[in-house]
Amino acid sequence: MTEPAKPIIQIQNVSKRFGKVTAVDNVSLDINAGEFFVLLGPSGCGKTTLLRMIAGFELPTEGRILIDGQDMAGIPPNKRPVNMVFQSYAVFPHMSVADNVAYGLKIAGVKGGEVKDRVAEALELVKLGGFGERMPDQMSGGQRQRVALARSLVMRPKVLLLDEPLSALDAKLRAQMQFELSELQEKVGITFVTVTHDQDEALSMACRIGVINKGEVAQLATPSDLYEYPSNRFVADFVGSVNIFEGKLTLDEPDKAAVDCPGVGKIYLNHGVTGPHGADVWIALRPEKIYLHVPGEGKAVKAAAQDAPDGYNFARGKIKGMSYLGDITLFEIELDDGARIRVSRPNLSRHDQEDFTWDDRVSMHWRADSPVVLLG
Ligand code: ATP
Repeated sequence: MTEPAKPIIQIQNVSKRFGKVTAVDNVSLDINAGEFFVLLGPSGCGKTTLLRMIAGFELPTEGRILIDGQDMAGIPPNKRPVNMVFQSYAVFPHMSVADNVAYGLKIAGVKGGEVKDRVAEALELVKLGGFGERMPDQMSGGQRQRVALARSLVMRPKVLLLDEPLSALDAKLRAQMQFELSELQEKVGITFVTVTHDQDEALSMACRIGVINKGEVAQLATPSDLYEYPSNRFVADFVGSVNIFEGKLTLDEPDKAAVDCPGVGKIYLNHGVTGPHGADVWIALRPEKIYLHVPGEGKAVKAAAQDAPDGYNFARGKIKGMSYLGDITLFEIELDDGARIRVSRPNLSRHDQEDFTWDDRVSMHWRADSPVVLLG
C-alpha cells in the first residue's frame, strides 16, 4: 500500500483583498510533501498573490496558511521554512557565482567550511559545478537562472516557491529547463510550488496543478486528468486547444448519453453523465481526438463502424482553413449543420499535408468516449 500523501502546505479558506479588488477568493487546498505543485492561471487571476502569501510577503485578509502543521500567522518570511525564486532571477551582479550562492548561508551565520561544501553541493545539483568563480555577466540566461535556484536550494528549505521561474528564457531553453526542474525536484525531494500562466510548462512539470480563475480554484488535478477530464468550460478552454459546443442533454442512461448541439448535430457518449434531462450543457472535444478521413475513405470507415454505431460519432463538412505547423496540421472545418470545428492531424509522413486542400468536402469521426460533458 502506498502511504497517504502528507500535506506540507495547508491553505484554509484564504482570501486576499487589495481595497476593492479580491485577488484571492476563499481558496482551500493542500500541497503535499515532496510534490511538484503548479498554480496555473491567466494574468491577474491571483496566483502570484497566493504564492506571496505562502512566502509571507503578503498577509491573508481571511483564512490561514499552515506549513508543516504550523500556523504561519505572525511568522515573517525569513522565519518560514520556505525559499522563493523570483521571476527576474535577481542575482547580485558584482558577486561571483559562489558568493551569490553563499550569501544566504552567511547571513544565516553558517561558518566557512560548511558554506564552501554546501555551495559546491548546490552548484553540482544545478549542473554548475566548477562555475563558482564566474561572474553573472559571463553566464547565459539559463545559467543565471540555475544560480538563482542554487541560491535557494543551498538554504535547504522544506518548500521552494518559484514565481514564473522560466518566463525570461527563450522557448527552446524553457523547454529544456522544464525537464531539468522536474529532474531536480525529484532528486532533492523538496516540495516545489511554481506559478505560471503557461499551460505547457504546467503540464510538463507538475505532479498536480491548481488552476486558478478570478481568485478561485477552478480545478485541482494531475496534468492528464486536467487535460482529459476538465470539470468546467474555463479549464477546458484554458488548458490546451478545444472545441466547445453548447447543447441539450437529450439522452442519459448509465451506459450512454446524447447531447443535441445546434450546428453540429447529436453527439453520442458511451457513458451516462447523470445530468438533468433537457439540461443545457457544453461539450468539449479536443482537436486531436477527431479523425479526419482522407477523401474517399469516409464511407469505408463508417461501414466498418456499423457494428458499434454508438461507439463513434460522424460528421461531414468543408475545409475552411488549414495551418501547417510541422508536426501537425490544424484544420478549421465548417460542418454541414453550420458550426465550425477545429481538427488536428499528425503529419506522420512528409507528404501528409498534401492530402487536403481548401474547400475539400471531408468526413470525420471521433470516439464516443472523447467528448467531455460540462455542466458549467
Ligand atoms: P500575473 O501573471 O500577471 O502576475 P497573477 O495571476 O499572478 O497575474 P496577481 O499578481 O496575484 O495575479 O494579482 C491578482 C489581482 O490582484 C490583480 O487584479 C492585481 O491587479 C491585484 N493586485 C495584486 N497585488 C496588488 C497590490 N499590491 N495592490 C493592489 N492590487 C494588487
